[in-house]
Amino acid sequence: MLSANDLAKNFDESKPSYNAQEALDEANRCLYCYDAPCIKACPTGINIPGFIKKIASGNVKGSATTIMEENPIGASCARVCPTEELCEGACVLNHSTKPIMIGDLQRFATDWAMKNEQVLFKAGEKNGKRIAVVGSGPAGLSSARELARLGYAVTIFEAKEEAGGLDTHGIVPFRLPKDISLWEVEQVENLGVEIRTGTEVGKDILAKDLIRDYDAVIVAVGMSKVPMLGIEGEDLAGIYDAIDLVEEVKNGNYPTEFVGKRVAVIGAGNTAIDGATTSVRLGAENVKILYRRTEAEMSAYDFEYEFAKQDGVEFRWLVTPKRLIGDNSGHIKQMECVRMELTEAESDGRKRPVEIKGSEFLMDVDIVIKAIGQTRHHQLIEAFGLEHNGGVVKVDPKTFLTSHPKVYAAGDVVFAKGVGEAMAVSAAQQGKETAYVVHQQLKESKE
Ligand code: SF4
Repeated sequence: MLSANDLAKNFDESKPSYNAQEALDEANRCLYCYDAPCIKACPTGINIPGFIKKIASGNVKGSATTIMEENPIGASCARVCPTEELCEGACVLNHSTKPIMIGDLQRFATDWAMKNEQVLFKAGEKNGKRIAVVGSGPAGLSSARELARLGYAVTIFEAKEEAGGLDTHGIVPFRLPKDISLWEVEQVENLGVEIRTGTEVGKDILAKDLIRDYDAVIVAVGMSKVPMLGIEGEDLAGIYDAIDLVEEVKNGNYPTEFVGKRVAVIGAGNTAIDGATTSVRLGAENVKILYRRTEAEMSAYDFEYEFAKQDGVEFRWLVTPKRLIGDNSGHIKQMECVRMELTEAESDGRKRPVEIKGSEFLMDVDIVIKAIGQTRHHQLIEAFGLEHNGGVVKVDPKTFLTSHPKVYAAGDVVFAKGVGEAMAVSAAQQGKETAYVVHQQLKESKE
C-alpha cells in the first residue's frame, strides 16, 4: 500500500525548467520584432522581446524586472498561462519554424530572481492615503502592488491563512508549486503592503468599517466553493469538492484512499482537469471525466486536455449523473448516469444539454469529485451593498467602480460565466488597471 510520503513525490513540478544554456539558445532564436505581436497578445502587455533580449545579454535580473513590472504574478503566469493561445500563439515564428517558448523563458528569468532573492521594486513616497483590498489573489495582489508603488498605504484582508488566492491554493502543485505564488506575495509585502491573513471581511472586520476607514476599497475576492450537484446521495462518503481536494494537496496532505480506486470527475473545466490529474497522482487506477456537453464546449484549455489525456484520464461526453448510490457503510459505490444530447444553438448561441429518455445506466465508482464551476461570495458582496447579478459584481467596465462610490471590484468577482477571460493573467491586468483608476480618482478629488 502506498503511503502519503510515497504519493508526495508525484506532486513535484512536472515540467523541468530551462538551464542557462537552454535559455540562452532559445532567447537567441527571437527576432526582436518591431511592433511585436506577442506583446499585443499578452493581457498584461509584457515587453516580451525586451525581456528575452535581456536573457540573451546575460541581464537576468533586468529580464525578471521587465516581466514583473507589467505582471506582478509573472512567475505564476509563466507556468499557468495558456501561452499557446496568447503570446506564443501570436509569435511570428509560428509561420516558419516553431514559436519562441516565451513561457519557459519567463519562468527561467523569474525563477532566477526568486532563487537569488532579488527585490525588484520599491514603494513610492507615502501620499497619506489608505486603501483596503479584499482578497489576495491575482487581482488583489496586483492592485495592491501598483498602489504601494504609487505611495498608498495598502492593507489586504485575506480570509485564508496564506495569501495568494487561486495561485497559492487552487492550482495543482505539479503545475504551480506554492512557493512560487508565495514569492510573489513576498514581493508585494516588501513594498510595505500589510496582509492580514486569517481575516474574513463580514466576520472579523465589517465591510462598513472598511468603507469608513479607507479612502477606497477594492473587492477582489474571486469565487468560492463548487456548488452542489443537487442530486440524491451527495452526502455519501467518498464525494469530494475538487477545489478542496486541490487545496489539500497544495498544503502537502495526500489522501491515501484514492490508491487503486475508480474515480469519476463531474465537469470539464480547469478544476475538473486538476481534480482528475490529482487523482492519477494519488494512485487512482481509473479516472474518468464526465461532461454533459461535448469536447467542443468544454472550458478546459487545450493544453490541459492534452495533459489529462497523457495522464490516462478518460473522457465521457454527453453523460451526467442522476443519482449517487451508496453501500451499507454509506460510501459511494455506483452512479446512475444518463446520456444527453444537445439542442440546436439557442438565442445566446449556446446549445443546451437535454436528457435522452430511457438512456440511464449504472457506473461503478469508488470516489466522485465534483467540479461543476464555483459559487459566488454573495454574503460578502451584499455586506458591501453592491449591485450584482447572481453574485457577479456590476462594475463600470472602464473604471471598475461598483454601485458604491468608494468601492471598486476586479478579477473573478466581476467575470460573468462565458463573459470575459477569467484567466489569472487577465485578473492581474484588471488589478493593475483598477489601481490606476483609484489613483486617478483620488488625485482628482484632492485637486
Ligand atoms: Fe520574438 Fe516571437 Fe515576439 Fe517576434 S513575435 S519578438 S520572434 S517572441
